[in-house]
Order: sequence, then structure tokens, then C-alpha cells
Amino acid sequence: MLEPHTVPPACVTEDAFAALMEISKRPPVVFVEGRGSWLTDQEGRKYLDFIQGWAVNCLGHCPTAIVTAIKSQAEQLLNCSPAYYNAPMIRLAELIARYSGLHRTFFTNSGAEAVEGAIKLARKWGQIHRGGAYEIVTMHHGFHGRTLAAMSASGKAQWEHLFEPKVRGFRKVRLNDIEEVERAITANTVAVMLEPIQGEAGVFVASDAFLRDLRALTRRHGILLILDEIQTGIGRTGTLFAFQHAGVEPDVMVLAKGLGGGIPLGALVAHKDACCFAHGDQGGTFNGNAFATAVGCAVLEEIAKPGFLAGVAEAGAHLAKRLTELSPQYQCAEVRGRGLLLALNLQSEIGPQVAGLALQRGLLINAPRPDTLRFMPALTVTRQEIDRMIAILGEVLKELLP
Ligand SMILES: *Cc1c(COP(=O)(O)O)cnc(C)c1O
Repeated sequence: MLEPHTVPPACVTEDAFAALMEISKRPPVVFVEGRGSWLTDQEGRKYLDFIQGWAVNCLGHCPTAIVTAIKSQAEQLLNCSPAYYNAPMIRLAELIARYSGLHRTFFTNSGAEAVEGAIKLARKWGQIHRGGAYEIVTMHHGFHGRTLAAMSASGKAQWEHLFEPKVRGFRKVRLNDIEEVERAITANTVAVMLEPIQGEAGVFVASDAFLRDLRALTRRHGILLILDEIQTGIGRTGTLFAFQHAGVEPDVMVLAKGLGGGIPLGALVAHKDACCFAHGDQGGTFNGNAFATAVGCAVLEEIAKPGFLAGVAEAGAHLAKRLTELSPQYQCAEVRGRGLLLALNLQSEIGPQVAGLALQRGLLINAPRPDTLRFMPALTVTRQEIDRMIAILGEVLKELLP
């Protein structure tokens, strides 16, 4: 096994990055190579990656299945036009339908674009079936992406006054409060949209009971249930889709992140009864291109292999156990989440420092909020890699909380 370095990264000068628009504070490290759970920077230092592009690289860095699919598709056909069918587009839509129980897919280039599509589909559906109703009930602290409508649908407090005016038509309620959802539904409501686990918010799980109650409630009111499985889908929680834990089926689901395993690919997936776009309502230049959808096929075929999802559940249980053992040693609190989407409540606002010190010791880890660490390794992460991560995290916490 590769060992991470223990010396702090040498500073690359800030000038080197001047041609990039600054959208966040990035550490002065430049990555040049990745294999499985490991990254290498341009100085040759190794890092254990428990972020994986924000739960994107579900098979780890540069997995053989994806590299092979890319090479063979690149030699065959990259792109024709969204106005024509291509073979991988059809095959991936069939795979998604077979595994999800839903019927039809529209492919996108990102998660936010799939969410936009879901909002448009719901509004169109409202025009046809609910007398022009357009409002969508979403959750406080929810995250649906960074286009204007997706930001407006999100419940991120820091975004409340950003980029005004927002897109109208979203009503926010508390996660896991079915009565509040019911009170928010009016004649103007077309859908309820939520994440099965609020990842960006810090890994807060929508309970199975809440999802089942929502399914019953939306059926009773004749409105759509839209699940944002962009972070939770494609095996992340130990089932192919997180809704399978609750035994419910949404009317509409959006996917991205893991679906492309590291290349840009999203999907708007719907029950046939919810599909109501007329020609010209929806489209996009790159949507459903052969290159991206061939990669999506390779990802789904890997994850559907016998034993793969059981392996995710096992790795998730091991990670949860190790975090639960670590927690009381450093006055931390609960471990939240499911499968390989887990969080540790640090009890104090040291998350960014933990992430910073971890990076210096060769570990990539994310603090979605100041008091929380989030763990979203490759679904192929090994027990040894989990144990190695716990060892580094323990050293960092010891340094910060003597
Ligand atoms: C990442 C994410 C999005 C946005 O996806 P992009 O590909 O970044 O546009 C939307 N919803 C959820 C739940 C996500 O985790």
C-alpha cells in the first residue's frame, strides 16, 4: 500500500493560478495523477482521497472499467448530435430504467442541469394536470446545485440574499416534518423535492418513515415526488438508489456525480406518467453524447456486478464503526449517514483546521460545515485505506484537541 507523506506541501506561488477566476480558497497543491483511493501531486507526494471529487469518482481514480470504456468509445464515436440516437445513450437509458423501476431518461451534463430539468418537467406537468400550479415544496438546508433555479430550490442559508431576484415558486419546510410539508401544500403545489440524505448540509438523513409518508402524501394530493439522488445514487448508500432503503419509488429522480464516475454526466429520470415535455421544451447541445453515456454504462455495469453493493455496505459499516470508536476519544459526537456517505459531528468548529492539517499529512477530507467532517471515499475503498484514514484523522485531532 502507498503511504501518504507527512511533510507539509511546499508552496506553489499564487501567481501560477492568476489566470483562473477565484471562486474559493484552494490549497496550493496541483494534482497530476490518481489511482483508486490515491492522488499524486506534481511534487510526487501521495494523498489518500476521502472526497473523490465530492462523491463523484465512485470507482476511484482512473478505474480500469472507465479507462477501457473511454478508449474504446473514443475510437468509435464521441458525439453526433442530440437530434439523433446513438448506441450508448440508448443502452444507458435502458440500464437506468431496469435498475430504478422508472421509465425514461433525459441526459444532462451536470447535476444542476438535471435539477433544472426536473423543475421544468414538474411545471409543465402542473400546466397540463393541475391547472397551472407551479410551486415546489423543498427542504431547508437542501442543496440542488448552482444554476439560478437550483439555487432558488436549495435551502442554503448563505444563499438566501445572493443573486436576487431568485426564481420564484419554492416553499421551504423542515426535513423529517411531514406535518409541515402537508401544511405547505396548496392548490398551487406541483411537487415535493428533496435529497434522501442532505449531503452538502452536513449529511442529514431523511428517515425511511418520512420518505414513505411523503410518498403517501404526494399520492393523496396528486402531486409529484422528486428525489435528488445526485449524491446518494449509484451505490453510495449501499443500495443502487437511496430510495430503495425506504421501499418507495419517486415519480422523478435526478442523478449526476457517481453516474459518470468522474466525467460530466447527469440524468433526469421519470415515471412514464410524469413525462410530458413537448418537442422543443427541453434539450442541450452535449446532452446524451456517446462519450459520456458510454462511461455511464461502464459505471452501472461495474456497480451491478454481484457483490459490489454488499461490499459498499460492508465498507460503510467498517468506516462507521471506526469513526464511532474514534469519536469519544476526542470529545466528538454522533456519526451520521448511510453506506459510504458519512459524517462525524466534531462538537466544535474545527472542521476547516482538521481538513487543512489532514491535507498536510496526505489526506483529503471535507468539512461541509465548521463542526462536521464528511466522508465520501471511492465505493471501492479498502479496509486498510479506511484504517489508514482513521489513523491520520486521529493524529490530527490529537494535535488540535490535546
Ligand atoms: C452536487 C449536487 C448537485 C449539483 O450537481 P452539479 O453537478 O454540481 O451541478 C445537486 N444536488 C445534490 C444533492 C448534489 O449533491
